[in-house]
Amino acid sequence: MDIDIERFARLGIRRAQDLVLQLPLRYEDLTRITPIGDLVPGVPAQVEGEVVRVEVRPRPRRTLTIELADASGRIGLRFFHFYGSQVKQLQAGRRLRVSGEPRSSLFGFEMVHPQYRVAHPGMALPDRLTPVYPSAAGISQASLRRAIGQALECTELVETVPGRRLADLGLPGFAGALRLLHGPPPDVKAPALADRSHPAWRRIILDELLAQQVSLRRARAARSALAAEPLADGGLAARLLGNLPFELTGAQRRAWSRIRDDLARAQPMNRLLQGDVGSGKTVVAALAAAQAIGSGHQVAIMAPTEILADQHARKLRPWFEAIGIRVELLTGSVRERDKRRVREAVATREVGLLIGTHALIEQGVEFSSLGLVVVDEQHRFGVAQRIRLTGKSGERLPHQLMMSATPIPRTLAMTYYADLEVTVIDELPPGRSPIVTRLLPESRREELVERVAAAAGAGRQVYWVCPLIEEAADTDGEAGAASGGGRRPISRRQREALELQTAIETHRELSEALAPLVVGLVHGRLPAVEKQAVMEAFGRGDIAVLVATTVIEVGVDVPNASLMVVEHAERFGLAQLHQLRGRVGRGTARSACVLMYRAPLSPTARSRLRIMQESNDGFEIARHDLMLRGPGEILGARQSGVPLLRYADLERDADLVEVARELAGADGAGSGLRVDELLDRWYGGREDFLRA
Ligand code: ADP
Ligand code: MG
Repeated sequence: MDIDIERFARLGIRRAQDLVLQLPLRYEDLTRITPIGDLVPGVPAQVEGEVVRVEVRPRPRRTLTIELADASGRIGLRFFHFYGSQVKQLQAGRRLRVSGEPRSSLFGFEMVHPQYRVAHPGMALPDRLTPVYPSAAGISQASLRRAIGQALECTELVETVPGRRLADLGLPGFAGALRLLHGPPPDVKAPALADRSHPAWRRIILDELLAQQVSLRRARAARSALAAEPLADGGLAARLLGNLPFELTGAQRRAWSRIRDDLARAQPMNRLLQGDVGSGKTVVAALAAAQAIGSGHQVAIMAPTEILADQHARKLRPWFEAIGIRVELLTGSVRERDKRRVREAVATREVGLLIGTHALIEQGVEFSSLGLVVVDEQHRFGVAQRIRLTGKSGERLPHQLMMSATPIPRTLAMTYYADLEVTVIDELPPGRSPIVTRLLPESRREELVERVAAAAGAGRQVYWVCPLIEEAADTDGEAGAASGGGRRPISRRQREALELQTAIETHRELSEALAPLVVGLVHGRLPAVEKQAVMEAFGRGDIAVLVATTVIEVGVDVPNASLMVVEHAERFGLAQLHQLRGRVGRGTARSACVLMYRAPLSPTARSRLRIMQESNDGFEIARHDLMLRGPGEILGARQSGVPLLRYADLERDADLVEVARELAGADGAGSGLRVDELLDRWYGGREDFLRA
């Protein structure tokens, strides 16, 4: 093959098999010649005619104009990028076969930058529609078509699904579907084929989903072959439960009972506990920890930020000390001497519960017997970090409990996470009143400051969240466009510095405006002890208004705070706004969240803010987020551990997801699926990537 292997490899195409799975985006109909006189503006067509005039105009913009004629009429062709050799080739008298989209101009129809070929008499027309492939890595359409055509001839397209099942579903066979998509006969309408609801597309999509489901099943089976300590002694957990200052909600009780059953097994639990912000996940994790410790093992709880780890330690320490368990905190900013002391106590099993940030795994903590790992705000951690921790207990794996308030819709979670059970807490503790969300243009900032002064004066505590600078990784990337397009990208360092500066200025401004009320400030650059001191003071009620960067985004729990202001809310992503807003409404006081924005809003920013205003339900918000951003954005491959789907769309193809799950569930052999061929075709031996 005369193709550039390296360029193809960059597209992930290494084998002929990979080439045939490279499917067209759309089609061109080059099977017919349309008389120039019959052209309709806006309708792509192919014409053939003779060049009657060639003109190169240097100004106002270098332009090559050609007039082409057939028996029925004339049309202009216009090129802005062209070579001298092209001009030579296009002399008057030459016959050209041209395809493009005609449009009306001052002098009749014209085509701008059409595709063309020099035609000779009797030149054949293709008998199939011409596929247009996603072009990338500088490979031309012509070489893609040639390479794919050759690959189709030399690849065996194994049928992976029994014919009977396909007939039931009204779908064609794999080989037929693939050939149709690569070179449809002209009687198939091109637009119908570009639509993924065409049976040929659905057959390919089913194949991809089957490969995914089969590999997920395999990963799950592999996990159930692993061993873990059964943690079955419920004595301590019962004591902890008895000491709680509140009753568990029904949803918490259900979640706890599932987890308790999981822990009692000799296979490692791998459970994701999803619950909206404030739904009370921490106490469920605490019960699991008590069960593990009561059964003679240790527990690690990891949080994504120091503030959150601190808070967990402050909250959990009294609960566990009351039942005779030592709790320690290990974060990056703990003094070296203390770290050593904690590590030793962990190694000798004096510490039952160790709470920390990533530092837990980064600093080589050796547990005497790690029975359970809890990962809070799981979406903030990468897969690799989880693995390194779980690799610590030698032969047996610890049980794992992940918690997240950024809910991934259930089907998505089950489809994307290789071997994860999902439990949902779908009820808030009693007595919460819904948060009222207001949108306010920045022009009314002064008025807002007065309202904050009144609220804080009346004893309410307030978060004032400073804006993100530029587009953050979490937003949808069009924030830059919304805020003025041509801005130069800035480095992460610069961005953080600017955010810090904004926070400091806001703090100074509000301190003046709100005096004598106490205004606090917390941001990522503050030394850990100071951060902790500020959060504690806010928790005690000594600070009325807390100016903060997004360091308070997740997990922070100060029930008396009941008003939140977010500046430049249009720069935040939906999930992030929901998390932020979840810092209020945690007590019984009526809470409000004011999203301040700068007009004009981009359409996406506008829909995000509207959704925030209309819904308090994290799951509904997640659904909208999914629609606005697509699953790829929400679950980066790194996080999900699964290569993203190429053709299937979990929402659009939900019915096929069901079919695939059912077929794969009938356990490969029984269902007649060609499992090995499926995995080889879609993952080409790379599927251990799924095991993460
Ligand atoms: P999240 O699920 O967001 O992590 P937390 O675990 O921080 O939520 O809980 C939010 C608040 O609700 C905490 O102050 C917690 O003590 C309280 N809480 C949890 N469960 C209950 C309950 N069953 N009844 C009353 N308050 C509860
Ligand atoms: Mg939490």
